[in-house]
Amino acid sequence: MSPAAPNPAVSQVPPAAPKPAPASQVAELVAELVAELAATSTRPWTLMEVCGGQTHAIVRWGLDQLLPPGLRLLHGPGCPVCVTPAETIDQALALACRPELILCAYGDMLRVPGSPASGDGGLGLLGARAGGGDVRLLTSPLQALDLARANPQRQVVFLAVGFETTAPATALLADQTLALGLTNLSLLMAHVRVAPAMEAILAFEDNPCGEDNPDGAPGCLGLPGPPGSARQRQPTKQRRPTSRPSPGVQGFLAAGHVAAVLGTGDLADLVTRRRRPVVVTGFEPAELLAGILRCVQLLEAGTPQLANAYGRVVRPGGNPAARALLERVFVPVDQPWRGLGLIQGGGLALAPAYASLDARQRFGLTSLSADRPPGPARTPHGPGAGWPGGEPPAPSAPLAPSAPPPDPCLSGAILLGRATPPDCPAFGAACTPERPLGAPMVSTEGACAAYYRYRRQDRECPQNAAVRPASPPLPESPHG
Ligand code: SF4
Repeated sequence: MSPAAPNPAVSQVPPAAPKPAPASQVAELVAELVAELAATSTRPWTLMEVCGGQTHAIVRWGLDQLLPPGLRLLHGPGCPVCVTPAETIDQALALACRPELILCAYGDMLRVPGSPASGDGGLGLLGARAGGGDVRLLTSPLQALDLARANPQRQVVFLAVGFETTAPATALLADQTLALGLTNLSLLMAHVRVAPAMEAILAFEDNPCGEDNPDGAPGCLGLPGPPGSARQRQPTKQRRPTSRPSPGVQGFLAAGHVAAVLGTGDLADLVTRRRRPVVVTGFEPAELLAGILRCVQLLEAGTPQLANAYGRVVRPGGNPAARALLERVFVPVDQPWRGLGLIQGGGLALAPAYASLDARQRFGLTSLSADRPPGPARTPHGPGAGWPGGEPPAPSAPLAPSAPPPDPCLSGAILLGRATPPDCPAFGAACTPERPLGAPMVSTEGACAAYYRYRRQDRECPQNAAVRPASPPLPESPHG
């Protein structure tokens, strides 16, 4: 491992408050930041947050409604449950049907629907459990160790989902499984990495299916290709009947908890390559507004830089112990994201020394859905490749697009910030948290669930919507 050195190019933003402000001071602090934002912002700007926790807080506290006119927040693909491919859910469903096996997962994953090919009736793993499958809910991956030791004659599989924030706990599980010599425990890996997804979004912004992207491949995120390309020739019914230019992400609010683990090295690389400001941001209302303000300041000054507005938690080198564990147990791989398609370096697989714990290999799982073609994900070459401070990933072959989710779910457009949940005809009607049609309505970090909890009155009472910022028109997208 090569720990990321402190980067002097990262500007440190004085914290909005040295620690979360007491409730009595929050309103005053927020009012000051809103006033400063109004004084700073002279042009329209579009920012994207890529953390579901931040999306939840922004919607919960109505922070987007406090911004000056023209300053727009897009909700990005910040919910790991939402971006877990249908193929992985299908594989988990197939495992849950095997009587010799115990499948365990975090609670949110139990309600994510599989693909139509899975035949789960939209009920996900909860349906499999109701049908007799042994599906257990865990609050910590390490509980799988107890399950495996208590059931030596049965196989235990942990569905490992999450960003780099939860990946260290999964890595610890893998490490302990080998150390304890447990042969009846394995992992169904679905961990994803945030920075490659940010890069893919900007790659699309910079080159939406351009000459080096003839079929809407790397970075094109499943949007229609140029005239005559394979993707442009998709059946009409797979495309949305609306069109809109790309949303034009001009700056990112980066997830503070991910940076707390990994540090800021990969984000600094992203800024260098893509020339957009990125501000590491926290989760409290004042912290979010401080991050937005810093991003607007950088945009107004025309200085694409990395800034850390969550300095009370995030250090440039991150958490060295957690990083060392991640780099020992996992390797970055190209991975499909639900609704977005295959993202270079967008996921984590078990490193060769831990490959015996791979549930896909142990149980001979095959692809049940069309999220990506069958075959192993590609692994970057070279030591440390793909990790912050390591070699850049090797260029990979053209990427496969994601299959559109079944109508009427707009999750692909929502995960790209190209639509908001109320734009979906099923929002709050056919699709609710009790009966979700898509993953963004399942997880508490999903944008649809957040809007359902805090904004559905906008649909029920149009007068409320009239005083809120208009959502952008829907894009032309094959995602459905
Ligand atoms: S509200 Fe629409 S976009 Fe969101 S999960 Fe439900 S069907 Fe999908």
